[in-house]
Amino acid sequence: MSEFSDQVAVITGGANGIGQALARALAARGAKVAIADINDTLGENLAAEINAAGGSAKYLHVDVTVEESMSALMAEVKREFGRLDLVFNNAGISVAGDGRDLTLDQWRKVTDVNYWGVIYGCKFAYDLMAEQGSGHIINIASLAGLIPFPTNLPYSATKFAVVGLSMSLRAEGADLGVNVSCVCPGFIASNIYEATEMVNVPKKAIIDNIPFRIVSTEVAAERILNGVRKNKAIIIFPGYAKLFWGLYRLKQSLLNRFALQTIRDLRKLRGKS
Ligand code: NAD
Repeated sequence: MSEFSDQVAVITGGANGIGQALARALAARGAKVAIADINDTLGENLAAEINAAGGSAKYLHVDVTVEESMSALMAEVKREFGRLDLVFNNAGISVAGDGRDLTLDQWRKVTDVNYWGVIYGCKFAYDLMAEQGSGHIINIASLAGLIPFPTNLPYSATKFAVVGLSMSLRAEGADLGVNVSCVCPGFIASNIYEATEMVNVPKKAIIDNIPFRIVSTEVAAERILNGVRKNKAIIIFPGYAKLFWGLYRLKQSLLNRFALQTIRDLRKLRGKS
C-alpha cells in the first residue's frame, strides 16, 4: 500500500500540465483527488478518466485569485472527505518580455495567480490542517524563485515570494503538525509556454531557444511526490537546477553572465513578433 493511499489531496491548476500529472500519479497510489481549475473541460475529463480507471477524483471550478472560492474549496473538501491531507498550490502563469514592455496590469495578473493564489491556498489549508494537527502544503514555485530570471520579472518576483512564504510557514507549522515544502524545478514540458503571453517577442523563437533539457510532467510528478514523501523543504530538479542554485548560493555573481545572456538573447528578438 502506498503512503498516499486514502490521503485527501487538493491540486490547484490540476487540469493540465504538472498538476494533471500529479493528479494521475496520486490517484494511481490510492489518494482521493480534488482537481481545482478554471479549465472545466480538461478538469471534468481528467476526473472522469481517473474515476473510470477505479480511482477517486472530483473536479471543482476554482479561480485561485478569488478569495471566497479558495476558502470554499478547502472547506468543501474537508466537509466531503472529513480531512485535508495534501494541498498542492500549483496553478501558475507567466507573462514574458523585456521589463520595459510589461504593463502594470500584466504584473497584477501574474501576482494575482502566482502570489495571491498561493497565499489563499496556504491560509485556508493551514487553518484547517493546524486544527487537525496534520497535513502537508506543497507550493509549486520554480528555479526562477531561487535564482534571477531576467525576461520574466513578474514570474521570478512572485516565485521568490512563494519560496519565502513556504520556508517561513514551514517553520511555523512544524510544532502544529503541518509540513510545508516548496517545489523549484527547471523547465518542464507543460502547457505553460503556449499559455504565456510573450510581449513584443515571437513566442515560437523563444520556446525553440530554451537551452535546457525539458523534463516530462510525469517525471516531474514523480520527483515531486518523492520529495513530499521525504518532507523535503525545497524540492529541486533536474541536475542543472541544483547546480545553478548551488553556484548562486556560493557567489551570486557566478550567474551574472548567464543572466545577461538571457536578456540579451531576448532583446535580439524584441520588436520582431
Ligand atoms: P500549465 O499551463 O500546463 O498548467 C497550469 C494550470 O493552471 C492550467 O490547468 C490552468 O488552467 C490553471 N490555471 C491558470 N490560472 C488559474 C487560475 N486563476 N485558477 C485556477 N487554475 C488556473 O503550467 P504548468 O507548467 O503545469 O504549471 C504548474 C506550476 O508549475 C506553475 O506554478 C508553474 O509556474 C510551475 N512551474 C512550471 C515550470 C515549467 O517549466 N513548466 C517550471 C517551474 C515551475
